[in-house]
Amino acid sequence: MRRIYADHNATTPLAPDALAAMLPYFANHYGNASSVHLEGRDARAAVDSARVRLAGLLGAQEGEIVFTGGGTESDNTAIFGVPPGHVITSSTEHHAVLHACQRRSDATFLPVGADGAVDPDELRRAIRPDTRLVSIMSANNETGTVQPIRELAAICRERGVLFHTDAVQSFGKVPVQVNQWGVDLLSIAAHKFYGPKGVGALYIRRGTRLQPLLYGGSHENERRAGTENCPGIVGMVKAAEIAAAKMEAEGARLFQLTERLATGIEQTIPGSHRNGHPRLRVPNTVNFSFEGCTFEGLLLGLDLEGIAVSSGSACAVGSLEPSHVLIAMGVSRELARAAVRFSLGRANTDADVEEILAAVTKVVKRLRTFS
Ligand SMILES: *Cc1c(COP(=O)(O)O)cnc(C)c1O
Repeated sequence: MRRIYADHNATTPLAPDALAAMLPYFANHYGNASSVHLEGRDARAAVDSARVRLAGLLGAQEGEIVFTGGGTESDNTAIFGVPPGHVITSSTEHHAVLHACQRRSDATFLPVGADGAVDPDELRRAIRPDTRLVSIMSANNETGTVQPIRELAAICRERGVLFHTDAVQSFGKVPVQVNQWGVDLLSIAAHKFYGPKGVGALYIRRGTRLQPLLYGGSHENERRAGTENCPGIVGMVKAAEIAAAKMEAEGARLFQLTERLATGIEQTIPGSHRNGHPRLRVPNTVNFSFEGCTFEGLLLGLDLEGIAVSSGSACAVGSLEPSHVLIAMGVSRELARAAVRFSLGRANTDADVEEILAAVTKVVKRLRTFS
């Protein structure tokens, strides 16, 4: 059966050119980037070049880029790297930020509005003299809603507080420029933009004091110990360049496809509720709740119809808890338990959207006759 993959916020397929760029670094160029011999220097040159190119894409300097083992590690490095004291985050963060902040001794979780956005005035009120870090994601993985990052970062700068953003769902989808946003720390993860899994980066503004999460060798300028994942880094940066080249056209195309899907759902399925901001969102994501359904029923039913979607966060699979993101936005428990995220990507077409629409209509109808 033909499959339609509509879960790109969980992960994306590896871009063929990114795979091609990686292969030599698994095979011939297997050196350790810290070794002084020719094999090591080869790997070092690849990692250094990747760093310069990624810095260029972010509008950063090469010395400000630290390669990590993915989005979770980048987020944890930022959150645990600041001194003891108060941290502020939002209640709709990815668990990589939310659970890390819960491990700190003193954390404030800002509420969000019905559209999922943080109110800058709430942030102003929450900052205290002992606040060490504010961490607010730039785009939400479940709803796609984007936050007013420039405004939030400016408040922090004015108050002398470090500002981190989890840009894992933004990078590759919308322009991400560290100086335009005015952030001090920023996380990305390769596998969310058609790069390999298990590799990411943390931007650390020059002059920012941050304790490492991992201790060992002096890799990454003593910011992150451990032999560099040379093939992964090469693949990530190749994927980042491809995403940057495609971003404008692909963003416009995906926004149209998701709007078509959203309009179709609203017009053909009564009792459907759109979650998240309808316009201030990344172009590939829409989220809907369907009255009288559960996400297990929706996910399994759509999977049988050949369509891969998610209830929101992939990490929530196996847990019957409703999405913390939707609950924080004031969605009822019942509707939060009936939510589906559609996150489209490069391979999706108009025909896919029509098929998704037909399948959702069918599955919702079937679930409602059972319930
Ligand atoms: C996927 C994701 C992460 C985690 O990244 P990994 O590379 O899977 O560890 C963090 N934040 C957001 C918003 C994500 O979507």
